[in-house]
Amino acid sequence: MLDTGLKILVVASEVAPFAKTGGLADVAGSLPKALAVQGNDVRVVLPRYRPIGDYTTVTDFPVEVGPRKETCIVRRSHIEAKWFHGTKEVPVYFVDNYHYFDRERLYGYEDDAERFAFFNLSVLPLCEEIGFRPDIVHLNDWQSGFIPLLLRIRARHNPAWNETASVFTIHNLQYQGRFPRHALGLLGLGDEYFTPGGVEFYGDVSFMKAGLLFADVINTVSETYAKEIQTPEFGEGLDGVLRKRSGDLYGIVNGINYHEYDPSSDPRVFKTYNSNDMSGKAENKIALQRELGLTLSHEPLVGMVSRLVDQKGLDILLDAMPEILSKPLQFVLLGSGDERYEKAFRSLTSAYPGKVSVTTGFNGILAQRIYAGSDMFLMPSRFEPCGLGQLIAMRYGSIPVARRTGGIADTVSDYDVSTGTGTGFLFDDYKAEDLVAALDRALERYADRETWIHIVKQAMESDFSWNKSAAMYTEVYMEALSRRGRIERPA
Ligand code: ADP
Repeated sequence: MLDTGLKILVVASEVAPFAKTGGLADVAGSLPKALAVQGNDVRVVLPRYRPIGDYTTVTDFPVEVGPRKETCIVRRSHIEAKWFHGTKEVPVYFVDNYHYFDRERLYGYEDDAERFAFFNLSVLPLCEEIGFRPDIVHLNDWQSGFIPLLLRIRARHNPAWNETASVFTIHNLQYQGRFPRHALGLLGLGDEYFTPGGVEFYGDVSFMKAGLLFADVINTVSETYAKEIQTPEFGEGLDGVLRKRSGDLYGIVNGINYHEYDPSSDPRVFKTYNSNDMSGKAENKIALQRELGLTLSHEPLVGMVSRLVDQKGLDILLDAMPEILSKPLQFVLLGSGDERYEKAFRSLTSAYPGKVSVTTGFNGILAQRIYAGSDMFLMPSRFEPCGLGQLIAMRYGSIPVARRTGGIADTVSDYDVSTGTGTGFLFDDYKAEDLVAALDRALERYADRETWIHIVKQAMESDFSWNKSAAMYTEVYMEALSRRGRIERPA
């Protein structure tokens, strides 16, 4: 039986503030803090990429990656969790190796299979080196997908690992870590795993599939996405595997860090504000218009902060753009990703000077200024596992105009004129005209000042902190432990 808190190891390929390309980093940086504050002993592991410089060196040990003998250097830093007694330190360990991780970008290299095989192979020995035997290893996305299997194999030689349960979280099923067959050899695994019922996926090896098959419990980042991915439309070829494991598959919506994302104290915005006094929000809008060279106008400012990839609904948005820009509004986009989208949006700025601003690149400060300075926030996603953009937007009083899919469906409620309730304007079908119709409904309400302030207040006062979701993760961890026979739970 367990006494107090759990010993939890969170493993991810990106963790804010150390390395971030998307929402996974936010989650891997903020969930551990929430779990620590709730009384658990939490440690975090990620690779040490080039820009991460502030650490101490703990130890090193050899790792065999197929025929290569490599060294894992263990570095250490921490993140600070704020709670009412003060702060708590969550230790962060880096798996370091100059050859694999001292590079410009996080992913997208020819040898990614080998780089992340090395990462997967390093994590459990790292625990042994630092003397931390977790109750739970919590793996995230394909980059840590083989650890549940490596855990079961390691337990054969070191039975203490039998006590450890694994939880695998899908943050985005589209990115699967699919590599040629030789990846198996790099992981030190034999051909017996290379079967359709194993980690083989259409002739390749799939890191994601390995996580889905071998973790004790699986979850994804919203209840709706948990259902969607069991269908061929959203299942990315793995819906069959997910249907087989549907009894072990949970949906837990992400939270956001309420200390970091707080309009009443955010140092990145021009003027702080809260739901009872929104005068500061109006000042943010003017300052943003100035910063981006937009006309100082009272028209609604529609913002968007997004990776520029197919998932985000940019094709229907581009189709809708001429009609959207014929309306009395301003449009601000911050995003980076596919060159063709970057180009298409950039070309709008010269056609609509003073009305449209497009910034390409990754910019955490401008992102917050857009959340704070915009009236509406666009998210026409084709699919959205959870989505953090709409959560941050609501917290900053920018009203989502978004597609009802995945986590958006679970976190934004459509405004209902008859009851006056709702925190956004949603559309269902993936069509440019339906996006425009949702935006039109929002613009109609915006014209009525009193109603709009009421909607903004409802959005700002919704609770998307980690409290509830971290407690749900603890439940899932307990479920995983019961699968290992560590605890008994009522059926
Ligand atoms: P995803 O993980 O699919 O990219 P999410 O909505 O879950 O989408 O998370 C996106 C996160 O990344 C949010 O915190 C958003 O503000 C941030 N973000 C996205 N693009 C940029 C950018 N170009 N500059 C700064 N922050 C960005």
